[in-house]
Amino acid sequence: MATYIVLLGPPGVGKGTQANILSKKTGLVHVSSGDLFRENLKNETDLGKLARSFMDKGELVPDDVTIAMIKDRLSRPDCKAGAILDGFPRTPVQAEALQKMLANFKGDVNLVPFISAAPSILIERVSGRWTCRAKGHIYHQKFNPPVVAGRCDVDGSELYQRDDDKAETVARRINVYLEQTMPLVAHYRSQNKLVEVDGTQPIEQVTNALLAEIKK
Ligand code: ADP
Ligand code: ADP
Repeated sequence: MATYIVLLGPPGVGKGTQANILSKKTGLVHVSSGDLFRENLKNETDLGKLARSFMDKGELVPDDVTIAMIKDRLSRPDCKAGAILDGFPRTPVQAEALQKMLANFKGDVNLVPFISAAPSILIERVSGRWTCRAKGHIYHQKFNPPVVAGRCDVDGSELYQRDDDKAETVARRINVYLEQTMPLVAHYRSQNKLVEVDGTQPIEQVTNALLAEIKK
C-alpha cells in the first residue's frame, strides 16, 4: 500500500528542507504546494496569476484551486508508492479533501510529523532563506549556505529571496498559520497520527528524529 507522510508546521520551520532529504532517503516523491504554486507563477499560468494575489499578501490560496492542484499532482504515476506532503493540507477543508482523494487511491495519511519552533526562530530562518530558481532547492545564508554564494549546489541555478519572505508578510503568514492550520494538530492527534518533532534542532538532528518516527 502507498505511504503518505504529511509534514505539518509553521512557515520557515524546515518542512521543505526535511521533505527533500526524506524523499532521497525513502524514495517517496516530495510534493510541495508552495513549489507547485511558484512553478505556476514562473510559467504565468492562470492558476499562477490567481495564486500570486494571495501569496503576495501572505494569505492562503482558496481551498478549491489548491485541492484540485494537489489532486492532479498525486494522481501522477510517480506518486504511486505515496508521497511526502509539504505545505498541504493547511486547512481542515483541505485535510478532509486529502482523506477522500487518498481513499480513491486506496491509501491514507500514515504519519504526521508536527515540526515546531518559536516565532523568533522562524523569522530568523525565513529572513536568511535563499531559494533556487530552477527547482526550489533551499539554502540559508548562515545555517545551510551554498558552496558558491548565490548559486544552487545541485543545479547551478541562481538563488533568490522569495517576495513573501519579507518581514511584514512573514508575520502575516505566521498568523494565518496559527488561525487556519493549527486546528490540524488536534485533528491528526485525535487520529493517533501526530508525532511531535523539535524543529529548533540543527537540520541533521531533525532528520534523524523524523527517520526514527518513520521506521516505527
Ligand atoms: P519551510 O518549508 O517549513 O517553510 P524551509 O525548509 O524552507 O522551511 O526552511 C526555512 C529556512 O530555514 C531555510 O533557509 C532553511 O535552509 C533553514 N533551515 C531549515 N531547517 C533548519 C534547521 N533545522 N536549522 C537551521 N536552519 C534551518
Ligand atoms: P512556507 O512553508 O514558508 O509557509 P510555502 O511555500 O509552503 O511557504 O507557501 C507559500 C505560499 O503559497 C503560502 O503563503 C500560500 O499563499 C500558498 N500556499 C502554499 N500551500 C498552500 C495551501 N495548502 N493552501 C493555500 N495556500 C497555500
